[in-house]
Amino acid sequence: MTKRLFIKTYGCQMNVYDSNRMVELMAPLGYASTDTPDGADLVILNTCHIREKAAEKVFSELGGLRRLKQARQRAGGEMLIAVAGCVAQAEGTEILERAPFVDMVFGPQAYHRLPDMVARATHRAGEQVLDTSFPAEPKFDHLPQASGAAGVTAFLTVQEGCDKFCTFCVVPYTRGAEYSRPAADVIAEAGRLAGSGAREITLLGQNVNAYHGAGLDGREWGLGRLIRALAEIPGLDRLRYTTSHPRDVDAELIAAHRDVPQLMPFLHLPVQSGSDRVLAAMNRRHTAGEYRRIVDRLRDARPDLALSSDFIVGYPGETEEDFAATLALIREVEFAQAFSFKYSPRPGTPAAGEDDQLRDSVKAARLAELQALLQEQQRAFNRACVGRTMPVLFEKPGRHDGQLVGRSPYLQSVHADTPDHRIGEIIDVTITAAQPNSLAGSLVNPLLAPGEAAA
Ligand code: SAM
Ligand code: SF4
Repeated sequence: MTKRLFIKTYGCQMNVYDSNRMVELMAPLGYASTDTPDGADLVILNTCHIREKAAEKVFSELGGLRRLKQARQRAGGEMLIAVAGCVAQAEGTEILERAPFVDMVFGPQAYHRLPDMVARATHRAGEQVLDTSFPAEPKFDHLPQASGAAGVTAFLTVQEGCDKFCTFCVVPYTRGAEYSRPAADVIAEAGRLAGSGAREITLLGQNVNAYHGAGLDGREWGLGRLIRALAEIPGLDRLRYTTSHPRDVDAELIAAHRDVPQLMPFLHLPVQSGSDRVLAAMNRRHTAGEYRRIVDRLRDARPDLALSSDFIVGYPGETEEDFAATLALIREVEFAQAFSFKYSPRPGTPAAGEDDQLRDSVKAARLAELQALLQEQQRAFNRACVGRTMPVLFEKPGRHDGQLVGRSPYLQSVHADTPDHRIGEIIDVTITAAQPNSLAGSLVNPLLAPGEAAA
C-alpha cells in the first residue's frame, strides 16, 4: 500500500535539493509525495537556521503536527514526524526534549540514513532517533543515483559545507566541512537530468566556487573546469551556479564566463558589506576594493554580465561611515538584484558574542535605506531590458490563458503569450514592459497554433 510523505522545506535551494533526494530515497519503500501533512504517514520538516526565529517557527509548526498525529492515532493510524536540516543539526537534543512526540531528528549530513531511521522509529514505537553526526564517509556515496526527475530547470548539488567561518554564519557548524563531489558523479547526474528534459541546471553549494572535486583526468578540478565539461552535455543549454564567494573566484572561472556560452550572464556574488573594517571583522577575507576588481575582471570577460549580491546591515559595531561605504559600493557596482538582511546574532557564532550589538531600530532604518537603493537599481535594470530581445526558457503556464512564464538569462521572470506546447523551449522574446520583479514580452517569431492558417 502506498504511504504518504509530506516534506516542508525552509530556506535555501540546497534544502530543496535535499528534500527531493529524500523523496527519491523513500520511493522504493512505497512512499509517495503528498502536498498536505493531513493524513501523511511521514512528515519531515527540512529546516533552515540561517536567520532569527528559525527554531521558534519549527516549534510552532510542530504544535500543529502534534494535533494531526494525535488525530491519526485516535483513528487507529500512525504518523511519524521528523525534523531535518540545519535547525535539527544545531538544536537536535532540545527538539527531542521539548517535542517528545517527534520521532526523528537528523542533520543535513545524515539524511541518506532516513530509511533506516524510519524502520527504527516504526519498529520500536516511542524510541526517538537522533542523528546529527558528520559521517566520515560523504553522504553522496550512500545515496542512490538521483533519478533526474523531469523538469525544465533543475538543481544539482556539487559542493557542500564551508570552511570559511564568517563570524556571523552558522553554515560551517550545521553543514560541516567543505566537500566536493567527484566530477564524474556530477556529470552523470547532469546527463540524467538533461535526458529527462532539463535544459537548465543550477549547480549548488554553500560555497560552490570553492569546488575542488576529483576530475575525469585524475587531477583536481575547479568549478570553471567542471562547467566546461558540463557544457558538453547535449541538450543542456543553460548553466548557473550559486552561492559563490569572492575569494574563490579564480582565473579559470572567469575564463569560463568568457568562453562558455551556456554559462548564463548572471552571477550571485555576495559581498555583505562595503566597509573594509566590517569585512575584516566578519572574516570575509577580502576587501571592498578586491570585490570591485573581481567584478571588473568578470565584466571584462563577459560584458553583459549582471550581478546579484547579499548584504548584511547592522553587523556589531557597524558605524554610519561603514554603512555609507556599503551604499557607495552598491552605487558603484550597480546590482540587477540583491538580498539584504538585518544582522541576526546566531547562537554559537563569534559575532553573536560581541558587545557592540546595534539596536534594532538602527538596523531597520539602515536596511530600509539600503533596500530603497537596491530596488531602484533593480527597477532601472529591468527598465533597460525594454526593447531588447532575449532568449527566454519557458517553464510553466502564466496566470492568464495562453500565457507562459519563463526566465531570461538574468533570471528575471518573463511573461509572454504563447501556446503552452512551447514549455521547455528557449524562444527569443522582445521585452515590451518592465515591472519591479518581472518582465513582459512578445515572441519574435510566434508559431502558429496547430490548424491555424497564415493570413
Ligand atoms: N555562502 C554564501 C556567502 O558566502 O555569502 C552565503 C550563505 S548564507 C546561506 C546566505 C546569506 O544569508 C548570506 O550571504 C548572508 O547575507 C545571510 N546571513 C547569513 N548569516 C546571517 C546572519 N547571522 N544575519 C543576517 N544575515 C545572515
Ligand atoms: Fe557562511 Fe558563506 Fe561565510 Fe561560509 S562563506 S561561513 S556559508 S557566509
